[in-house]
Amino acid sequence: MLDRLKNHFKDVTLSCSNCGKAVEEGEQFSITLVLPEEKNMPVGQLDKVLAKRAIEILCSSCK
Ligand SMILES: [Zn+2]
Repeated sequence: MLDRLKNHFKDVTLSCSNCGKAVEEGEQFSITLVLPEEKNMPVGQLDKVLAKRAIEILCSSCK
């Protein structure tokens, strides 16, 4: 079960909402977010938080 959990967290990729391309390290991208309430403020690695929270992600060619 721990392995499943690990894979779950490892598999997070940010992909463009328009073309579906994965956003790579070092790439510039645009994101639409809603600022959460303070008690729901996400903590963690940025890519994981964004993958979970982002409403829209646009890669460098789509923005
Ligand atoms: Zn794109």
